[in-house]
Amino acid sequence: MKTRSILAVFAHPDDEAFGTGGSLAHYAEKGAHVALVCATRGEVGEISDPALATPDTLGEVREDELRCAADSMGVQQVIFLGYRDSGMVGTAENYDPRAFINAPDEVVVRQLVGIIRDIQPHVIVTFEPNGGYGHPDHIAIHRHTVAAYFAAADPSAYPELGSPWQALRLFYTAIPKSFFRSMKEQMMEQGLDTSQLARLEEDGAGWPDDQVDLTLDVSDMVQAKWEALNCHRTQFGPNNLFRLLPEASVKTLMSYEHFALAYPEHTAGLQLTDLFDDL
Ligand SMILES: [Zn+2]
Repeated sequence: MKTRSILAVFAHPDDEAFGTGGSLAHYAEKGAHVALVCATRGEVGEISDPALATPDTLGEVREDELRCAADSMGVQQVIFLGYRDSGMVGTAENYDPRAFINAPDEVVVRQLVGIIRDIQPHVIVTFEPNGGYGHPDHIAIHRHTVAAYFAAADPSAYPELGSPWQALRLFYTAIPKSFFRSMKEQMMEQGLDTSQLARLEEDGAGWPDDQVDLTLDVSDMVQAKWEALNCHRTQFGPNNLFRLLPEASVKTLMSYEHFALAYPEHTAGLQLTDLFDDL
């Protein structure tokens, strides 16, 4: 195989950092080409400190935050699809015609097919079907990425976008339910407020542990991951859930990243230890 190549496809600046930041940094350091697609600029995310952004500037600010995170992780290429953040489910932002969730399927899939054929990644990573915790944009980028994974390899689909490209594996980033349990235990031991975790739990956060196909130890890259998270200043403010525990405990929790193999389907006996095993 020539230079190994990974394409990560997410919805908002910061989606990449928590679940995959250590892995992207790990493979970039090992010489892989690592590219990141971001569907929106996270225009309706939080503003942790009014000195950092206003609702009007947040998209621009978050674009810069993502470029900062990409530099920290060694991600060489960042591509924005140019949609607007659709906001949390049930908010007025859902109805904005520019919102990512309102983009026609074929338009987004076409964009992604063009990117996949251009970059020719061996491995593609995106959200699992519930998008981590049910955010509508996360669910949408999951759906479009799965469709594009297949369409990019189909010679009859979008022939005007270049030669077909079959990425060898599609992974979902899959934070296991046990992660949230152990985080909650640690927080309770320290007498910390666990209401943010309870909300995540209500939103169905967490992937079944027995469906995790690959756990990567990224402890050697946890500092790069931490720096990437800290680039996302508007989102990762002083009250962020992951700032409540002591930094050392959070870094330990963040030292493992988890993936489910979506395609080709996991065959019995396949013991993955690496995104590129056997490729
Ligand atoms: Zn997001």
